[in-house]
Amino acid sequence: MLFKQWRFLIIFACIIGAQACVLNAGKRPTNKYPSYRDTYKTEDVENVLKRYNFRCIYEDGKYFRCFNCTHHIAFILESKEMIFDGTKVFLTRPVVKNPRQNRFFVATVDVEKILKPLLEPEKIKKYLSNGGCIVIDAGHGGVAEGAKNSKLNLVEKRLTLNTARALQSALSKLGYKVFLTREGDVDLSLEQRGQWANKLKAQLFVSLHYNAAESTQARGIETFTYTFASHPSTDRTKALASDGSTEINNRFDVQNTYLAYCIQKSVTIRLGSIDRGVRRARFGVLRHIHCPAVLIECGFLSNDDEAKRIATNAYQEKLVNSIVKGIQRYGHNTIMRTAIMQPTQILKDFQNKKSSLPKRPLSKSQSNPNKQTL
Ligand SMILES: [Zn+2]
Repeated sequence: MLFKQWRFLIIFACIIGAQACVLNAGKRPTNKYPSYRDTYKTEDVENVLKRYNFRCIYEDGKYFRCFNCTHHIAFILESKEMIFDGTKVFLTRPVVKNPRQNRFFVATVDVEKILKPLLEPEKIKKYLSNGGCIVIDAGHGGVAEGAKNSKLNLVEKRLTLNTARALQSALSKLGYKVFLTREGDVDLSLEQRGQWANKLKAQLFVSLHYNAAESTQARGIETFTYTFASHPSTDRTKALASDGSTEINNRFDVQNTYLAYCIQKSVTIRLGSIDRGVRRARFGVLRHIHCPAVLIECGFLSNDDEAKRIATNAYQEKLVNSIVKGIQRYGHNTIMRTAIMQPTQILKDFQNKKSSLPKRPLSKSQSNPNKQTL
């Protein structure tokens, strides 16, 4: 009797199993991680910055400003944009607020790989020695012409090579051994460019590009680093399953952030260009580089006014000098107190709105009760 019951159960299980197989047969094979959840740890901004003696003020339901005697950081609620000493740096995730506690939170990865390197650059191992090897990559080449401005007869591949040669000359004068990924009008794959830098044991890699956009209004400078593993690039809000892999260049996330910041700040200030920020993207040319690496978009060819400027010797000279200065800053740990020299548009708007604010943050007892002080 007992045996008959077991036999019945086994047959029943087989029928169910067979039905499941039939149902699944028509479906596409599933990903190993079909429902990758975009979860990440966060930290209370004020608690993090307290360690550096910052005072923070929250106002207008949108802005969150933090000061100490050296730095000024502006966060914007629900935005990835952060203005650090006047230079725009994109966080990986938007700043969020806990409405019950009225506290602001940033992603832990942004604390570790963006805030800390910018606040404590002296703790970063730089890898760039005096006389070290720097590889400059002139974007595009050969049939890959890149962006164009036909009206002004400007082609990205020619401009990048000219800028790369001038940058090579300027850095060589400082004693660095500088190599270009291409010397002429040749089409190299992204892998070849990276392999060349690795073969030369480069200590720093800079890829040069000029930008183009559908909107002819777009203008300004962007500096990219390789995206942190498991986190979204700047142009996306959520991480994907495919974002999980750690690539070789992710070993230098911290160095990349500080290098990109130094260059972005130096270039936007010296050229007086619109600051489009330090960004992250999974660019193939940066992925396998064995040293700190950035990709600079040196201005928009699709904007006639900017393209005209780009074509001038004065622009090229300033651009090259400012990249050199940025690299020198990166190597020398100098604190850059330039928040007041050239605020970005966001900070300008912010400051205009806040013109009634006192110069220094108020203590809790002094502050206006209508303004929330964290
Ligand atoms: Zn390009």
